[in-house]
Amino acid sequence: MRFHKAESAFFVFVALVLGAGVLNLHAYGVLHADVTSLSSQLAGDRVYVAQLLFASGVLLATGIIFGTFLIYPLIRGQVRVEGTLRAMTETLSQRSETLQQAALTDGLTGTQNRRYFDDALPEYLGEFARIDKPVGLLILDLDHFKLVNDNHGHDVGDQVLREVANCLKDMTRHHDVVARLGGEEFAVVAPNMTPELLFKLAERIRKAIAAMTITSGNVRLKVTASVGLAIWDGSEDAESFYRRADRMLYQAKRMGRNRVSA
Ligand code: GH3
Ligand code: MG
Ligand code: MG
Repeated sequence: MRFHKAESAFFVFVALVLGAGVLNLHAYGVLHADVTSLSSQLAGDRVYVAQLLFASGVLLATGIIFGTFLIYPLIRGQVRVEGTLRAMTETLSQRSETLQQAALTDGLTGTQNRRYFDDALPEYLGEFARIDKPVGLLILDLDHFKLVNDNHGHDVGDQVLREVANCLKDMTRHHDVVARLGGEEFAVVAPNMTPELLFKLAERIRKAIAAMTITSGNVRLKVTASVGLAIWDGSEDAESFYRRADRMLYQAKRMGRNRVSA
């Protein structure tokens, strides 16, 4: 059993009082022992001192009883309440962290979700503008994804989304944002990359998705993605920046899909 600091302090206090009580008792005994062999004046004084010692011994004993049966239970109760409160606070803060995490994560793919993306994009623009570094944005949309669902079922469609998401996570850096914006549309925010590097990244991702074979039971299928690419011009707001990348995506779709448009 582990004791709280207040309890340990109380035990020390009781031990000190007990020690004082024992000394008192001893002194009382010594004084009483040879009273008979002394002159009456001296004996009277000694008896008086012995009575004082006895009285203070009684007070000390009362103090110990009072402390043990009244103060100690109060301390013990307080310690219990404090422990419970601490445990509850920990549980609550863990739960709110988990909830916060869940509110910003896409349940199907484990990437960030639209809400996270909407907050992160303006934040990234602000932060990287301050250090004068570029921010790139890729918007990806799977091609003819409706056919995957129609031909193989929704569960296979979900598995495709998870595998595409894993591919995006594998191919990006830890400070890039990978988010599922909804349906079969994903975004990658990639700061601090030259236009050439960003275009190469987009091409690598597109090729990696096209090279994947998704296996589910005895179904094996392939998917492709179209990618819109934009680099922040340094003045437009996040919304306009996103819309520009989205227009590039639709250009890629119009030009025949499975391509990057910048
Ligand atoms: P396009 O090449 O023009 O993008 O064609 P598409 O078929 O990919 O686009 P469309 O917007 O017509 O269809 C998107 C489909 O994505 C429709 C919907 O059934 C499917 N979808 C959206 N969300 C989910 C999801 O969470 N799971 C699965 N399995 N399918 C989804
Ligand atoms: Mg699509
Ligand atoms: Mg779509």
